Amino acid sequence: MTLSRDWLPRRPEETERIAQGRELFRQIGKGLVAQKSFQSGDVILEEKPLVCAQFSWNELYKYKACEFCLRSLENAEEMVRRLTNDPSIILPYPECCDVDASKFSFCSQCQVQYCSPECRDAAWNSYHQALCLGPSREDPDHPLNQLINQWRSFHYPPETGSMMLIIKIIAMIMQAKDKSAVISKFSTFVNSVINEREDIAHKLLGEQFMDQREILRSMLTEIFFEESVQQWYTPEGFNSLFALIGTNGQGIGSSSFSRWVKATEELQLGDAEKQQLDDNIDKLYDRLQEVSGSFLDCEGSGLYQLQSAANHSCVPNTEITFSHGDHTLSLVALTDIQPDEEITISYLGCCGLDRGRHSRQKALKENYLFTCNCPKCVSQCDDESITTDDEEEEDEDDEDNEI
Ligand SMILES: [Zn+2]
Ligand SMILES: [Zn+2]
Ligand SMILES: [Zn+2]
Repeated sequence: MTLSRDWLPRRPEETERIAQGRELFRQIGKGLVAQKSFQSGDVILEEKPLVCAQFSWNELYKYKACEFCLRSLENAEEMVRRLTNDPSIILPYPECCDVDASKFSFCSQCQVQYCSPECRDAAWNSYHQALCLGPSREDPDHPLNQLINQWRSFHYPPETGSMMLIIKIIAMIMQAKDKSAVISKFSTFVNSVINEREDIAHKLLGEQFMDQREILRSMLTEIFFEESVQQWYTPEGFNSLFALIGTNGQGIGSSSFSRWVKATEELQLGDAEKQQLDDNIDKLYDRLQEVSGSFLDCEGSGLYQLQSAANHSCVPNTEITFSHGDHTLSLVALTDIQPDEEITISYLGCCGLDRGRHSRQKALKENYLFTCNCPKCVSQCDDESITTDDEEEEDEDDEDNEI
């Protein structure tokens, strides 16, 4: 993890408390606080996840990503050909694609692919020894594959969580020399939700899933039991693990095609050439949309220690980006930020942020168990006329359903 020195929690002793749970910090109004001023566009912090995993449907549909860092393993041309179903497409300016197939590496036992020997070794040393299925990697009858298949059948796209995150966490503990050190990294997340209402997992995963949860729990206990965290295998503990990945899991997306697009923007081109390139890229996006809809990226989720401590605001002063093309998360300032100002992110997608106060607060309450008191919510509470009639109606409908 690289952490800018210019960014620190308000007091060092609060770091630990911040890591202990979002709920607490919302209540005490702490979170991440800037120690210096930042300008709009500055990268405030960069962080790699404690653990991350590609979504299992995404993997099944042949979105090829490094098993460790989720970097796309197709070059931009291969990716766009697959997603448009058109093998004749040739992308100009191939030098704008930074995918280097000569560095690709794989596990010699199970052949799972990595973007580099470094990622292969990092995975092996962290969790892959305990998880490597050897020649059975593709065998649908292998118990671990059965568990993943079961998960997939309960959780159709768009995916919001991954059973694989839980499996990797357990594998990390299994193969760690110092188990307690690994457990303590994750227990700060688990503890943050262990006492929360049962229905957070219910809301996050859907009622149908809750009926099937017991199947997953008993499968996991049978095939992947780790005694040092046996409390995670109880119904309550298992529930809290799901609430953990639901409330703290951060979506990750990587695409060699969008990196290529970005790199072409930096090219020094004549006006006519530039115009032609822009037109061609627009056409490609239309075709991508036609064939693959919104599923363009390698997608997964991860747990980030610092980012998960940031509080929510409906007018956040930072946004999360993945500009390195892998699982490295950047918090980028959206506005100028003054020293001592709280650093906030949005827990809602951008569409969610555009909705009325009632809708936003309902989503935050259900999924994150808090009532938002950000400046936007407070001012809209004072001036309810800001929400449109449509939003009010829709919100009232929602409330009716709740009763
Ligand atoms: Zn990698
Ligand atoms: Zn392997
Ligand atoms: Zn708000």
